[in-house]
Amino acid sequence: MSDFRNIDSDPDYETTIRPQDLDTFSGQEKIVDNLTVFIKAALMRGEALDHVLLHGPPGLGKTTLANIISRELGVGLKVTSGPVLDKPGDLAGLLTNLEKGDVLFIDEIHRLSPVVEEYLYSAMEDYKIDILLDKGPSARSIQIELMPFTLIGATTRSGLLTSPLRARFGIQCHLEYYDSETLKRIIKRSAGILGMSIDENAAVEISMRSRGTPRIANSLLRRVRDFAMVKGEGIIDIAVTRLSLDALNIDTRGLDIMDNKILSTIINKFSGGPVGLNTIATAVGEDSGTIEEVYEPFLIKEGFIKRTPRGREVTELAYSHLGLQKSYNDQSLF
Ligand code: ADP
Repeated sequence: MSDFRNIDSDPDYETTIRPQDLDTFSGQEKIVDNLTVFIKAALMRGEALDHVLLHGPPGLGKTTLANIISRELGVGLKVTSGPVLDKPGDLAGLLTNLEKGDVLFIDEIHRLSPVVEEYLYSAMEDYKIDILLDKGPSARSIQIELMPFTLIGATTRSGLLTSPLRARFGIQCHLEYYDSETLKRIIKRSAGILGMSIDENAAVEISMRSRGTPRIANSLLRRVRDFAMVKGEGIIDIAVTRLSLDALNIDTRGLDIMDNKILSTIINKFSGGPVGLNTIATAVGEDSGTIEEVYEPFLIKEGFIKRTPRGREVTELAYSHLGLQKSYNDQSLF
């Protein structure tokens, strides 16, 4: 129940509700405004758009934006991901098949192997690649000219990107968590597309429990819809919404089981902190990178955790959220 953020929903559902243009893409106003200008300028010059790096937590719209960018440019889109491209040959195959101005979208670009990454440099910079023919003494390399193209890289872990790769992206966008007003709009739009009627209050309730993330909002809407069909009148109202969200263990602040486990572990095992990230990760049985890039940013943004030079510390809000009392006989004070 805890991983709404990690589930890729049903592809048909995804395709139906995914916004297709910048006008229906809600929120991220600054990014949308800038991209609108850069896309127009590239179209006016008849050139490929500069390479774009999209970074931010999962489910905030990186893949959606990549689709929208290629659509707005009126070019083709090829999609791949860092871990899939394990040999330079795989990348060469993709690059040589691109047509003028096409977009190549590499998801999880921080997971490219170093050899593939290095290969990408000349492709990004000069639209050229070297291909090695034969092996052993007769090995020689030939240079192939590529069509000008746009690389869109997406990552949840921008800190893991090497500086040479990062420097080759002319346009860099950091996606932020969405406010509940924007999420409410997204939920109402998705409900409309699904042909469901939803109360204003129900939309507000789902938006507040969606962890600032459209993917979670859409997943929750889908589950609430199931409850509304089976247990309610087929209409998504506040009663059926609360019933389903409670059944799914999504609490009133949108925190799920793992979020709450992180907070209660810091409080119960480490007297509220400060405690190092790796220690927290071991205690809750989760990868430290995932905690740092997926769970922690939202907990920090909502004011449950703060980062200090000595590690992570929970705030008063975390205690009150979990209904716990802060103990003041902390030994470190003496
Ligand atoms: P990411 O690639 O960042 O993990 P996606 O682009 O796959 O996220 O988005 C996840 C889901 O959230 C998609 O189904 C998409 O429909 C929805 N979504 C994301 N951003 C928006 C937005 N700004 N407006 C409406 N729906 C959005």
